[in-house]
Amino acid sequence: MMELPPDLADPAPRNLCTDCGLSRGPHARLCGMACQFIAPDYTAEETRVHGRPRDPARGDEGFFGPYQRMYRAALRQPQPGAQWTGITTRLAQNLLESGAVDGVLTVAPDPVDRWKPVPVIVTDPADMAQVRGMRMGYAPLLALLEPARARGLRRLAIVGIPCQVYALRRIETQLGFERLYVIGTPCSDNTTTANFHDFLARLSDRPDKISYLEFRADFKVELRFDDGTQREVPFLKLPISDLPPDFFPLTCRTCVDYTNSLADVTVGYMAGQGDQWLVVRNDRGAEIVDALGAELDLSRPGSAGKRAGSVKGFIANTERAAGGLPLRRMPDWMRGIVGWLMPRIGPKGLEFARARLEMKAAETILHLRRHAPRRMKHMIPPHVWDLAAPYGLTPADDERPIERRR
Ligand SMILES: Cc1cc2nc3c(=O)[nH]c(=O)nc-3n(C[C@H](O)[C@H](O)[C@H](O)COP(=O)(O)OP(=O)(O)OC[C@H]3O[C@@H](n4cnc5c(N)ncnc54)[C@H](O)[C@@H]3O)c2cc1C
Ligand code: SF4
Ligand code: SF4
Repeated sequence: MMELPPDLADPAPRNLCTDCGLSRGPHARLCGMACQFIAPDYTAEETRVHGRPRDPARGDEGFFGPYQRMYRAALRQPQPGAQWTGITTRLAQNLLESGAVDGVLTVAPDPVDRWKPVPVIVTDPADMAQVRGMRMGYAPLLALLEPARARGLRRLAIVGIPCQVYALRRIETQLGFERLYVIGTPCSDNTTTANFHDFLARLSDRPDKISYLEFRADFKVELRFDDGTQREVPFLKLPISDLPPDFFPLTCRTCVDYTNSLADVTVGYMAGQGDQWLVVRNDRGAEIVDALGAELDLSRPGSAGKRAGSVKGFIANTERAAGGLPLRRMPDWMRGIVGWLMPRIGPKGLEFARARLEMKAAETILHLRRHAPRRMKHMIPPHVWDLAAPYGLTPADDERPIERRR
C-alpha cells in the first residue's frame, strides 16, 4: 500500500474545511472552485457526471440525488472486518482483480490509532481487507491523486465520502486519468478522531477496546469489543446532550450532500432495514455493481411508517442547539419506553432515509443561519431548501441560492 508522502503530510487549516487533501498538493489553488463549503454547484456537476440533474418527479431523487436503480443489498459472504457486509471494499477489490483499475484510493486505519483514517493507494487486491470498516475523522484522500499519477497509475477507483467526492468531481477533468470509478458512501456527523475518542470514553469504561461502532437504522448504536462481546445502546440513551457544542465541526453540521450524489454508486445502510443500501447512479455505477454478479443479494428496498413526527422533534431540538440552548432531555422513565417503541413504530427503510435527509437539510439551514449566515446563499443548493420547506424552513431574501452562470 502506498501512503501519504511526508511532504504532503502537513495539515492545512482553513475555515470550513474537512481537509479533503486538495489544499496539500498542486491543486491547492483550485479549492475556491472545488470546495463543497464555498460555492457548490450540484446541478452542474450532476448533469456532467450523470447526464442530468436530480429530478424530484422521478422516485426519490429529490432526497437521494440522481439514480438509475436502488437496492436493499448484502454480500452473500460477509467480509470479516467490514462495517456492514463489505460491499464497498469488495466492489473496489473486484475492479482491481479484473484489471479494470490499476489502483484504489481509499483510507486505512492509522497503525497506532485504529479510529484515525489515513489515505492509501491499494494496488494488490488482497490488501483491500486492511481498509475495511469505518473510521471517524478526516483523511486528506485527494492528496494522493498526484502521487498516484506520478507512479503511472492510469485507471483509478476512489472510495470517498461526499465532501471528498465533490472536490474530486470538480477537478477530475484536469487530472489526466484514463478512467475514474467513484464508489461513495453516505456520511453524516463526522468529527475529529480526537473528539470521537472522547465520545467512546463516555460510552464505555473500556473505550480502548471498542473495535466497531455503528448508528443503525433501528435507532440503536452497536458497539463491538476486542474480546468479541457486543453492546447495543438506544439512541435516546446516548450521551449526546452531554457533548460540548463544538463536538461536531460546523462543516459536518452544515454539509449538503448526505448521500454522495456525485458518486457512480453509493453504498450505505440507511434504507437497508438491517441490510445495506445501494444507489446505482449512472452507467459506470451499473458496471461496478453488475461485475459482482451473484456475490450480491439484491432486493427492492422497503418503506414503512411516517417520518414527519420524528423530523419535527429533531428540528425543535436542533433549533435549541443552534441557538446555544441545551437539548431537551426526555425523563429517564420515558426514554426506556420511547427507546422500545421507536424501532417498532418509527420510519423504516426508504422512509427512514427520507427522514434523515430532511433532518440533515434542516440542520444545515439552522446552523448556518446561526454561525455563518453570509455563506447561506452560496452553500445551500435549492434541493436542500426543498427538503426543509414542509417544516416551515424557507429562505429569506438574502439566503436564497444565487443564480449560477453555466
Ligand atoms: C463518518 C461516517 C459517517 C457515516 N454515516 C452514514 C450514515 O449516516 N448513513 C449511511 O447509510 N452510511 C453512513 N456511512 C457509511 C457507512 O459506514 C457505509 O455504509 C459503510 O462503510 C459501508 O459498509 P461496507 O460494509 O460496505 O463498507 P466496508 O467494505 O467496510 O468499507 C468501508 C470503506 O469506507 C472507507 N472509510 C472508512 N472510514 C472512512 C472515513 N472516515 N473517511 C473516508 N472513508 C472512510 C474505508 O476505507 C473503506 O473503503 C458513514 C461513513 C462514515 C465514514
Ligand atoms: S476543497 Fe478540500 S482542502 Fe480545499 S478547502 Fe475544501 S475541504 Fe478544504
Ligand atoms: S458529514 Fe459531510 S462534511 Fe462532514 S466528513 Fe461527512 S461528508 Fe464531509
